Amino acid sequence: MTVMYEEALQRYEPVFGIETHVELGTRTKMFCGCITTFGAEPNSQTCPVCLGLPGSLPVVNRLAIEYTIKIGLALNCTIASWCRFARKNYFYPDMPKNFQISQYDEPLCTDGYLDVLVGGKTVRVGIERVHLEEDTGKSLHIGGATGRIHGAEYSLVDYNRAGIPLVEIVTKPVPGTGFLAPEVARAYVTELRDVLRALDVSDVRMEEGSLRCDVNTSLSARGSGEWGTRTETKNVNSLRSVERAVRSEISRQAAVLDTGARVIQETRHFHEDTGVTTSGRSKEEAQDYRYFPEPDLVPVAPAEPWVKSIAASLPELPAARRARLIESWSLSDLEFEALRNVGALDVVEATVAAGASPADARKWWLGELARRANDAGVEVSALPITPAAVARVAALVAAGSLNDRLARQVIEGVLDGEGEPDEVVAARGLAVVSDDSALLSAIDEAIAANPDVTARIRDGKVQAAGVLVGAVMKATRGKADAARVHELIMERLSS
Ligand SMILES: [Zn+2]
Repeated sequence: MTVMYEEALQRYEPVFGIETHVELGTRTKMFCGCITTFGAEPNSQTCPVCLGLPGSLPVVNRLAIEYTIKIGLALNCTIASWCRFARKNYFYPDMPKNFQISQYDEPLCTDGYLDVLVGGKTVRVGIERVHLEEDTGKSLHIGGATGRIHGAEYSLVDYNRAGIPLVEIVTKPVPGTGFLAPEVARAYVTELRDVLRALDVSDVRMEEGSLRCDVNTSLSARGSGEWGTRTETKNVNSLRSVERAVRSEISRQAAVLDTGARVIQETRHFHEDTGVTTSGRSKEEAQDYRYFPEPDLVPVAPAEPWVKSIAASLPELPAARRARLIESWSLSDLEFEALRNVGALDVVEATVAAGASPADARKWWLGELARRANDAGVEVSALPITPAAVARVAALVAAGSLNDRLARQVIEGVLDGEGEPDEVVAARGLAVVSDDSALLSAIDEAIAANPDVTARIRDGKVQAAGVLVGAVMKATRGKADAARVHELIMERLSS
């Protein structure tokens, strides 16, 4: 039983929060020297440390600390001058030590924020903490239809992922976004992914699990001033699912509250296929984990000069880039969002760098190329055409050598592997007919074939010239410059 989303938000105010786990892109694991490459033969990247064998001792990966400080600085956090790892005790078959080395009350980074742009408005999402821990292994359930444990004949465990450095980024609760809550949640994860990508600390592939989100949602009666009980939706593994998970929980919780019942604090699972969540386990409290400081590791105390040198090495971050591009390309916030949402920022920037005007670069990537990418089911940046080729096509149009229709055929040729734009123009014979004498004979034929249209134009009905332009374009198989044809027709008929 759910209620309609719009209806739910007339009575209730949503608050959401997001915990994001990011696998860092270090070459080796968090506490041992095992390689971290994705997709290797199961259990081929393990050693006594990450298998939790007795007597083995962990050693901290310095680069993982550096990456975490980078993330903290990019998210405007305070970096701890001294902190410790903690043992989080729980049993899971894919966690060989039966505890996870994590951070508890002494996270490396605290109290930051990330500004996100939604529908032309900036929303500030507070960051509670950024801490470092180790990933678990992976259970594989064999023999069932769904890959879940229910119905499986047996299970296998792959420890290749066990011990990969994992950063957890936790937002503060985000209130006050109302109807926009699902979109703000999605925009936050998008912006965070872009920040992590700019920092080059993770490959942030949601489909491979290197970026995973748990989404907390609660509702309270409008104007009550209280916060409701939250649920935690686990492993929401695409940007679209982040939005859908918040939306689905708002509708479900509203239905529960409408009956006078209470929302149960619990973990819920999001189902990609149906877009709804179902109940998981009741949520553990922190005390259930019996945290204590990890006795096998020394404290982490990043020296101030080191943190300063990391801060000085940060690249241009998405917010700064956004401000720069909006300014230099004269865009509105909404136009910028359109480019970002299509994933075309990098290619448009490269096309401008290759000589195209920002307007032309946007036009081709957001129009013809976005359409073709959509048809092919790929990102625009994955199309087999370079920004330099798109800039060349734009230059040929600007010079009058191609019209838009021919330019689209050139792009088609490049995408089909026929070569660079100039090669496609030559091979397909696509240049605009710029020789007036060649056009004039086609114009004369069009005039002769359409005496009634000609008479109307001579009577002052100049719009009728479109018929003649169309006839000439057809006769030249689209290779004429329509504006020039129109000019020549009017000259011909006024003499
Ligand atoms: Zn290892």
